[in-house]
Amino acid sequence: MKDRDPDQGTSQEERAHMFPETINLLMVEDTPAEAELVQIMLSEVRRVRYNVTHVERLSAGLDILRRRTPDVVLLDFNLPDSSGLETFRSVHSLAPHVPVIILTNLKDEEMAIYAVRQGAQDYLVKREVDSNLLSRAIRYAIERCGSERALRESEERYALAVNGANDGIWDWNLQSNSVHFSARWKSMQGYEPGEIGDDVNEWFDRIHPDDAPQFHAALSAHLEGKTEHFESEYRLRSKTGYYFWRLSRGLAVRDQGGRPYRMAGSLTDISSRKAAEEQLQREALYDSLTGLPNRALLIDRINRAMEVARRRPKAEFAVVYIDLDRFKIINDSLGHSVGDDLLVQVSERLGSLLRPGDTFARLVSDEFVLVLGDIGGLTEVTDFAEQILESIRKPFEVSAHEIRITASVGVAMYTRKYERAEEIIRDADIAMYRSKTAEGGRGYEIFNSEMHQSVVALLRLETDLRRAVERNEFVMYYQPIVILETGRITGFEALIRWQHPERGLLAPQSFITVAEETGVIVPIGWWALEQACVQLRNWHRQFPMTPPLSVSVNISGKVLNERDVVPKILALIQRHGLTPQNLRLEITENMIMDSGEISKGKLSELQKAGVKLNIDDFGTGYSSLSYLQNFKYDSLKIDKSFVGNLGKDANGLAIVQTIVGLASLLNMNVIAEGVETADQLRTLRDISCPQAQGFWFAEPMSISHADGLLAKQSLRVH
Ligand code: C2E
Ligand code: MG
Ligand code: MG
Repeated sequence: MKDRDPDQGTSQEERAHMFPETINLLMVEDTPAEAELVQIMLSEVRRVRYNVTHVERLSAGLDILRRRTPDVVLLDFNLPDSSGLETFRSVHSLAPHVPVIILTNLKDEEMAIYAVRQGAQDYLVKREVDSNLLSRAIRYAIERCGSERALRESEERYALAVNGANDGIWDWNLQSNSVHFSARWKSMQGYEPGEIGDDVNEWFDRIHPDDAPQFHAALSAHLEGKTEHFESEYRLRSKTGYYFWRLSRGLAVRDQGGRPYRMAGSLTDISSRKAAEEQLQREALYDSLTGLPNRALLIDRINRAMEVARRRPKAEFAVVYIDLDRFKIINDSLGHSVGDDLLVQVSERLGSLLRPGDTFARLVSDEFVLVLGDIGGLTEVTDFAEQILESIRKPFEVSAHEIRITASVGVAMYTRKYERAEEIIRDADIAMYRSKTAEGGRGYEIFNSEMHQSVVALLRLETDLRRAVERNEFVMYYQPIVILETGRITGFEALIRWQHPERGLLAPQSFITVAEETGVIVPIGWWALEQACVQLRNWHRQFPMTPPLSVSVNISGKVLNERDVVPKILALIQRHGLTPQNLRLEITENMIMDSGEISKGKLSELQKAGVKLNIDDFGTGYSSLSYLQNFKYDSLKIDKSFVGNLGKDANGLAIVQTIVGLASLLNMNVIAEGVETADQLRTLRDISCPQAQGFWFAEPMSISHADGLLAKQSLRVH
């Protein structure tokens, strides 16, 4: 090994100062003269100290390379133990990261160029070299090799990151339109690395058609420089043909003119996040029982239909409101799970009537709404309403029960006056309500503006009613109840009247239903009970008799539903010093059916305390005779419609006779309501009906009239 130090005699420190840089150089050169020349040239270089190791054979050079790594290798091609390109290959394969400069003769220049292509950093023609050229070549070779290494390392790091990451990577050359997809990108879609090429359409063609527009819009926006980065969530088709939710993020690389020439980014699997989001959305927009859209989604769909209809006048649509009749009874009598099953079956049956594009939603409980799009006119809608009614009328089979139900249907046609979905739903609801309350109706009703007016009137009535409670505008009237055998007054039925400031004295039929629906009946009902108790107490003082007079009060289901209704009524009786037996509560059949088991329990409690119970309007409800077995009433009031039929035909008599007979069998008192004629009275006597009430005896009257009547006890009883 020849080592030549140009500055012998100087100290280490000084040398380090003089030569801030030391380059370890391996020279493999078998011609001593050439080697000598290079050494001289290197020694002439200023500021760099070359630490030269010189060997003459390739094998010796390789030995050194195995032991340490020089900064650079100067390599002669033709050596005693190797020649030509093979010499370079041996060195390069042993130390691929060490820069190699080929020292060559003019005649070997071709081969040297070839070696450079294979990875040599440079070549120098021996005879043309001078000190500057040599030192520059060495410096560049080292630098170039260094930056190549840095790049390689960064690439390796990148590759490591890409392979290790859960995300797929794409790198898109915008000039050639080819994309490098990482193995993970491909495997996320279920492909082996070799199964997906580098065409950009390998990606784009797999995007779900519904998501493609927004994907490409986001991409273009970024390529055009309108967004900071590209980001898009979309469904990508996998090898199995299924689509999965993916998120792509990316960044374009631009030239100095701002034109993008490359874009790279990631592909992330967001399918589980999307699934969770979809689940939440389903819960927010769909009814959990039937899976149908709920009110929120319905409103959204109607609003959209309205937008279309505003732009295209031909795009007519109708909103159909469907409400099952007396669904509550099914729930109460057969249980909620049967009720739920029935609703599911109803929704399936109605769903099968739909055409594509129609919306079918469940609002609450037993209320459904259909939106019929593209309708050709009113008859198409009424035909459809009839189809709905007919399909619901067919019996349902739920948990071994055969259930027959009916429905009420209301229709509102879209017109330009509607601005919000809620308005058209409200009108369909009004029409539905109208059809439900119309006696002997066809089952459906089309909304018209007159209905709207009646609703407005109804709303006014509601506010008036609330005010009437505060202002004490109600009065009680009393109608006598007569014992047919003796003609004596046994008691009175208390019947409410409303002294309306503008409309005069109003009978209950013009306000009781609204009071029931709005709940105003509760304060009214308590007021009526209180009045009846006060009056009964007064009569007992003024007109003592045996047995004492009784007063019957009609009691609403809403009042009976109050939690502490029983103790409150008993306290009321006590407060007025009455015996419970003289207060009679009148309950209609329907009300009992509607309010269920709990109110039945409350009625028994009242009865045990001595309060008498009358079943009112008997025969008009839907429970009829069988219901009498379940609950023991004190009196049964035959509805005036049956009494009105007496004398009209044989059936009229038969029915009343049967009811009277049945009641006496069950040990119940009977009161015939609505007796208007002498004939009716006679018939009732003939069939031994014990008591009666009606215009024939007296109309409901004010207290002072009732007082007069009691004083004289003069009633027409024959
Ligand atoms: P209801 O309990 O069946 O009362 C009998 C109804 O028949 C009364 O009507 C009475 O005036 C009427 N009526 C009596 N005799 C005849 C007759 O010979 N012919 C005809 N056509 N009708 C007769 P009103 O007073 O209009 O009461 C109607 C309904 O309003 C009552 O029917 C009852 O259900 C309800 N109601 C009345 N007052 C109250 C009350 O204070 N509270 C509650 N919750 N409901 C009440
Ligand atoms: Mg009554
Ligand atoms: Mg009645």
